[in-house]
Amino acid sequence: MSTQKQSLFREIPGVDQLLATPLMERALTSHPRGLVLNAIHQVLEDIRGKIKSGAIAGPEPELQLETVSESVSERLAALSKPSLREVVNATGVVVHTNLGRSILPETALNRLRAIGGGYSNLEYALDQGKRGSRYVHVEGILQELTGAESAMVVNNNAGAVLIAIETLARGREAVVSRGQLVEIGGSFRIPDVMRKSGARMIEVGTTNKTHPKDYEEVIGPETALLLKVHTSNFQVVGFTQEVPMEALADLGRRHGIPVMEDLGSGCLMDFARIGMIQEPTVQEVLAQGADLVTFSGDKLLGGPQAGIILGREGLMEAIRKNPLNRALRIDKLTLAALEETLRLYRDPASVMAHIPTLRMISQSYESLRKKANRLYARLKGIRTDNFTVQRADGNSKVGGGALPLQELPTRLLCLIPRKLSAQTIENRLRTHSPPVIARVEKDRVMLDVRTIQTQEFNTVADAIRAVSFP
Ligand SMILES: *Cc1c(COP(=O)(O)O)cnc(C)c1O
Repeated sequence: MSTQKQSLFREIPGVDQLLATPLMERALTSHPRGLVLNAIHQVLEDIRGKIKSGAIAGPEPELQLETVSESVSERLAALSKPSLREVVNATGVVVHTNLGRSILPETALNRLRAIGGGYSNLEYALDQGKRGSRYVHVEGILQELTGAESAMVVNNNAGAVLIAIETLARGREAVVSRGQLVEIGGSFRIPDVMRKSGARMIEVGTTNKTHPKDYEEVIGPETALLLKVHTSNFQVVGFTQEVPMEALADLGRRHGIPVMEDLGSGCLMDFARIGMIQEPTVQEVLAQGADLVTFSGDKLLGGPQAGIILGREGLMEAIRKNPLNRALRIDKLTLAALEETLRLYRDPASVMAHIPTLRMISQSYESLRKKANRLYARLKGIRTDNFTVQRADGNSKVGGGALPLQELPTRLLCLIPRKLSAQTIENRLRTHSPPVIARVEKDRVMLDVRTIQTQEFNTVADAIRAVSFP
């Protein structure tokens, strides 16, 4: 090593020197000593790395005690923050899987506090004074809302599909249309789940067309399940045909084979009622004769992550007894939030207003325009050469693989780059505290007010103001 580098290494402040600075003395009153030392070691390690690589080449201010202790202070602040944090979703994708899918209803949040902060009758039958089942807490309401014979819940829908197929078709054959061999994202692919479940997948039909006779032809003594999968996140248009649930259920009945549909998003309310694209409801699919349906708790339903399984009592009994059930077991906090979310569906007149996911999807353009104006008004005082702000029309997305073709006209705030690039602006919003997640389109940074909550307006205005500084 060169003598110059060696002399630079000697200039690096020592740990004890740093600990004695006023900044670190103050830090020690509010942070555990171990964390402060950790921050010091990390910063010193960075400096050594920079000297080695030549990034620090002369006796620079970076090596001064005061500068180094400031760096440690910043590092300490970063280390003290929780890793899982709140962010502002300004993407306009309502059910955004990367950002936690659904925001829970207020009443569900209250249940989380109550049930999480105390003991509960999770697996205790209060009327008998003995061990009970955790599933009873949502079974009744799911039956009531959907007309299902029986209901249970697991950790997520991928788990629901897995346990259902493994229970009904392990070591035997499950028939599925080639048009429904979907990949949902995050590595959930029907053929892979099928393989994991130990069922032999029998593909029928073609990518665009599958007929009842395609299923009929492959049914034999080894057939254990007819599976239909909701093609959540894409649509095949043009010369296409799927076998409707009624026909598939009829086929299953005639051959004594259960018919299951993985509905994916699974909605309980009719979106056509509010002028949106028709999405089959869970109730409809059951009424059409499906023996089993599965769907997520945190997509269009608007609740916590969960996998809901509804269907015939005999099949459900077998699923409940499957040892996988224990591995996929739903947690009590999820159960509390799910029960409360489901209870909101009892009142069809207010459900849209009380479940944030439904409220955001159904917001009218007119109310979004006003919302954008209110946010825009908060930015009035900002003077900057970095960007200009404009309002514009755009489209939001439902997300979560639901209603992929649904247009949701919305209002955007656009930050149009001047001195800063769109990428830099997006990056600075994203690394603001709390982070604001926007999207870049046509070299503009777009903030969609549909998914920004009114109580987040201050945060968004602060973040934009921070980007306005040179
Ligand atoms: C989303 C989805 C899944 C996976 O559900 P998770 O809740 O993410 O586990 C499975 N099948 C379909 C059709 C889906 O849309």
